[in-house]
Amino acid sequence: MFKTIEDDVLRKTVPEPLKHEFAQHDFERLKPFCLLVYIASICIWLVFDLIVSFPGGQGFSGLSILFLAVLTINTIALAFTRDARYFQWINLIFVLVIALGTRLLIEGLPMDLHTSWLILAASSILYSASVLPLKHWSFVTTMVITWVLLNPFYFTHLTLLEVRSALVIFYSTFLTFLTLYTFLKLRRAKLYNFIMAKLLLDQAYLDTLTEIPNRRAFITSAGKKLNQLPKVHDHYLAMIDIDNFKKVNDVYGHDIGDEVLKRVAQNIKGVMAEFDYARLGGEEFGIYMAGVRHDDVEQLATLLCRRVREEPTQHPVTISIGLARVEDGETLNQALIKADQALYVSKHAGKDRFTFHGS
Ligand code: GH3
Ligand code: MG
Ligand code: MG
Repeated sequence: MFKTIEDDVLRKTVPEPLKHEFAQHDFERLKPFCLLVYIASICIWLVFDLIVSFPGGQGFSGLSILFLAVLTINTIALAFTRDARYFQWINLIFVLVIALGTRLLIEGLPMDLHTSWLILAASSILYSASVLPLKHWSFVTTMVITWVLLNPFYFTHLTLLEVRSALVIFYSTFLTFLTLYTFLKLRRAKLYNFIMAKLLLDQAYLDTLTEIPNRRAFITSAGKKLNQLPKVHDHYLAMIDIDNFKKVNDVYGHDIGDEVLKRVAQNIKGVMAEFDYARLGGEEFGIYMAGVRHDDVEQLATLLCRRVREEPTQHPVTISIGLARVEDGETLNQALIKADQALYVSKHAGKDRFTFHGS
């Protein structure tokens, strides 16, 4: 089954909004790792700078302090960034500064060491970038910045005609394609994993017929709200049941019954959009209203009954509602039982109405 759904997902093109949602999710999950990479990079650069400056006899210049300050500010900016889009720019600035700083440090080394250190620095940046949550354009720009600033043919003894150059060109090309391939493969695998997880979660928590949340989703979300402390306003639980629904099925058929279920679900969604609602099973629905007053609940229940009753359709139905105030220390099950008892009262009082438990 997993394979079938996976094949189905892999065949489809990914819509842009889903790609954006994935990019944001990926960034949020990898932000601590990005910070770690930045801090480690700054430390390595600083150690390198100190070695070149003191044992190397170059002296610690104001430029080093400037680079260090910009890199640190960049890292602090990353720590406060919540949007994946800003990270793309923060990362480009970081790559630009650290590549330039590294180039200047390498300039301070003996000439015959330049080529190997430039290649080493470029590979470190590209390997790190290949596992960061970057977008395609951002990764390609990172590559361009890296090779422009750490190009082993600028200001080195290397000329294009010698054998060593062939090796450098070959290795640089290999490195470029390897990191690009790693980046693309990893990003694609993560994107499809994200889509699969979302799809399976949606299927587990959505009712297939009415496409509103199901009982499992309701238990989870209402249970979470119920345990929220302190309660600023009251919490109410509503149980809804379609009146004489069996007759709809018997007279018009099961398909029309399904259409009625979908319509009532949409009515509930329309009126109760800001609350947790779900199809609990059969022709029963539940709503968890957190932070409401008795009057609000009365108004909403009146509106919902009217909306269902007055819906212009060939197959009109009505609904009955049972309402219960969720008391402190009560479990969701206890509140559901109370709402069910109130629903029973509504049914026996003539249907198409709502009743508060204990009223
Ligand atoms: P009351 O006013 O007392 O609620 O009467 P009722 O006829 O609505 O109540 P009852 O529980 O006897 O009938 C519920 C019916 O809902 C029985 C069942 O066939 C039907 N039902 C349950 N799930 C579905 C479904 O997914 N689709 C359709 N079309 N019918 C369903
Ligand atoms: Mg029923
Ligand atoms: Mg019913």
